[in-house]
Amino acid sequence: MSVTESDLSHRLGLTLPSPLMPFTPDWPGAERVNLWIKRDDLIHPVISGNKWRKMSALLAHHAATCQHIVSFGGGYSNHLHALGWCCKQLGIAFTAIIRGHYQANPTPMIADLLHWGAEIRYVTKIEYQQRHSQDYLALLTRDYPQALIIPEGGSQQLALQGIHAMLAECQQPFDTIVTPVASGATMAGMVSGVSEQQQVLGIAVLNGVGYLENLVAQFLPEKSDCRWQILHQFHHGGYARKSADLLSLCEEMQQKYSIAVEPVYSGKVFFAMKELLKQAFFPAGQQIIIVHTGGLQGARNDLQAGL
Ligand SMILES: *Cc1c(COP(=O)(O)O)cnc(C)c1O
Repeated sequence: MSVTESDLSHRLGLTLPSPLMPFTPDWPGAERVNLWIKRDDLIHPVISGNKWRKMSALLAHHAATCQHIVSFGGGYSNHLHALGWCCKQLGIAFTAIIRGHYQANPTPMIADLLHWGAEIRYVTKIEYQQRHSQDYLALLTRDYPQALIIPEGGSQQLALQGIHAMLAECQQPFDTIVTPVASGATMAGMVSGVSEQQQVLGIAVLNGVGYLENLVAQFLPEKSDCRWQILHQFHHGGYARKSADLLSLCEEMQQKYSIAVEPVYSGKVFFAMKELLKQAFFPAGQQIIIVHTGGLQGARNDLQAGL
């Protein structure tokens, strides 16, 4: 038996729909287009925006019957954090399989999970690499026979439905929607949810030309009509890598526009936008929605240190 997503979001105290705010930075080229920010970072103080979108349909489907969830992530994972909190609220036991050994030095994310009563299994990089293998998953199922096992990042086919719900909230007509890309499910949800006249622009947050396109495509039907494209020149050296320019852009977003962004995901997107606007990448007059996917919890170390 499933519960509805709106029941679930009510039980979890989520603010939905998230606001769609006009954004008028004084950046060169910004005056040629109309910018909006979909503030999924404001859905909830604990749950990181797109991680809710990606798990909502799956959780709604299983919330009434499921007693235990197992999932995977790194030590700063926004997904484990959001899922751990939801499990605690819903009375579901949670096991987090974490890449690396943080026993001596738990990250703020891990400290929260422990506080919420999660079981944590630290595994080596080598073991973690097996997270998609059928044999490994069979072993986990033997350890946890009743558990629902959710892939890293919450990226599974039902994740696309939650992204469609986000698109349905966007009342403003738009030509282009912009998102960060890591595991690709968020972008795939957009590609499969927009119309043929609309375009989805992904900003790669890690170094993966071709790899990221394949990740997105694996979630899509053979033929996806809409135009989509991933830009690979804004990852600043790779996942969670940063540069002085990126950090100063994050600071500018906070100081000038009162929008908190972190350097792993949304900071790279706004950095890219500033650059693309300068290059007149977008046709004049376009309506563009930038999705702020959240993620601030993952940068708590950085933010405390003043980025
Ligand atoms: C996980 C995450 C992303 C990337 O989403 P994918 O579906 O994995 O591509 C983007 N932004 C934030 C804040 C995230 O936590």
